[in-house]
Amino acid sequence: MIRRYSAIERRTRTFFSFLLDLVFPPRCVSCRTLGRRICEPCAADISWIESNFCPQCGLPLDGQKNHTCIDPACLGFVRSAAVFSGTVRKALHALKYYSDRTLAEQLVRRAHSHWNPPSWDFDTLVPVPLGRKRERRRGYNQSLLLAEALSCLVGIPVDSRSLTRVRETQSQVGLSIQARKENTADAFRASGVRLRKVLLVDDVCTTGATLQSCAEALIQAGSTRVGALTIARAVLPAARQELN
Ligand SMILES: [Zn+2]
Ligand SMILES: [Zn+2]
Repeated sequence: MIRRYSAIERRTRTFFSFLLDLVFPPRCVSCRTLGRRICEPCAADISWIESNFCPQCGLPLDGQKNHTCIDPACLGFVRSAAVFSGTVRKALHALKYYSDRTLAEQLVRRAHSHWNPPSWDFDTLVPVPLGRKRERRRGYNQSLLLAEALSCLVGIPVDSRSLTRVRETQSQVGLSIQARKENTADAFRASGVRLRKVLLVDDVCTTGATLQSCAEALIQAGSTRVGALTIARAVLPAARQELN
């Protein structure tokens, strides 16, 4: 199912966020100050990734040249707006455990000017899906909230049905790059994306293994181009060692 948000729907969503804020005055997710979900001093602390990153996978290079990159035959590019630390880490944690649309909107609005993808020419935004069990337990998919917020900004419709997770993967925390690849291999299936240009949306990218696996499924199902945007980029200690 592809969803396009009309101007009325956008205004209604904003109005409901405004009402919610009246009932539950927003606090900063990082310092708990009353006012906004992300206050200005905490926003100023975010490490945006704006230069010196790999043009393919978006990894901040920090003077390093060699790293395990994505396969551009399936996944054209990954762009992450900020380093996964401090305010961004706390905000994404809050988004994961509290279905907070306003927070998703604030994150996407702030990330939007830092992404600079090679192209915005895409037919659909596809959130990285959760497994059915995990989504039922949590009640929503945080990547879908981000994709919906981005859709309102850039006018590309959201397609949350064409890509599904067919196999639950174990938590990626603590896994090496190779183990992450094996963990996510063949975990996704796509359909109904023939001749479509798909922009994947996720909260965090670590090695890119999940995004790569999603892109392979989409290309196999007939997508002509796949790129990916994530709010944050986590750099694995193991990846750092490999870089060194
Ligand atoms: Zn704050
Ligand atoms: Zn790279």
